[in-house]
Amino acid sequence: MANNVAVSYEQLINWLRLIDESLIEQRAYLTELDAAIGDGDHGTNLARGGTASSAKVDAEQPEYIDDLFTLVGMTLVGTVGGASGPLYGTFFLRFATSVGHRQELTPGQLAEALEAGLGGIVDRGKPDLGDKTIYDAMEPAVRAFRAGIQAGDVASAARAAADAAATGRDATADLVARKGRASYLGDRSLGHIDPGAASTALMFDALATALA
Ligand SMILES: [Mg+2]
Repeated sequence: MANNVAVSYEQLINWLRLIDESLIEQRAYLTELDAAIGDGDHGTNLARGGTASSAKVDAEQPEYIDDLFTLVGMTLVGTVGGASGPLYGTFFLRFATSVGHRQELTPGQLAEALEAGLGGIVDRGKPDLGDKTIYDAMEPAVRAFRAGIQAGDVASAARAAADAAATGRDATADLVARKGRASYLGDRSLGHIDPGAASTALMFDALATALA
């Protein structure tokens, strides 16, 4: 049954902390994926960005959800190199703008914020499904979250989103890259999971844990 229990500031800051923890834990895995079809810096870049944004959040302790995610987005844009910093940074900046000045979100507001973040990825990267990018994990995840809150509670919606992201990530192994550095490899990108799709799957797994 759908319900309207609010998502708290604490749950959202916990989401960010869990993302950081898994980026640090999975840094070598993400780097290995990127070494196969990119320049091998994805794990290091994102771990650095996560650490930098956590330090900013600890220092500034923003009170409102929009200020929190604006700070994270700005820090990612400023500290993470390659394509992933601006993409994830834009995701969080658009998320912040969508949320407005609040300390909790209804499930519907969280779905809107995730959709706004996804829209930022679309505006920045102009991805299509099947290009073998972040979008192949994020688009199904955001769609699953929206469907999930219409059918049930946020915890099960977030778990469905994480599962959809993981499925999307795994499916990138069967795709030839059409965007980014991996696209220069042509068919040689086949058989490898896209590192951006892998980091997106971590992000949604962290959301499921934070909202469980
Ligand atoms: Mg790279």
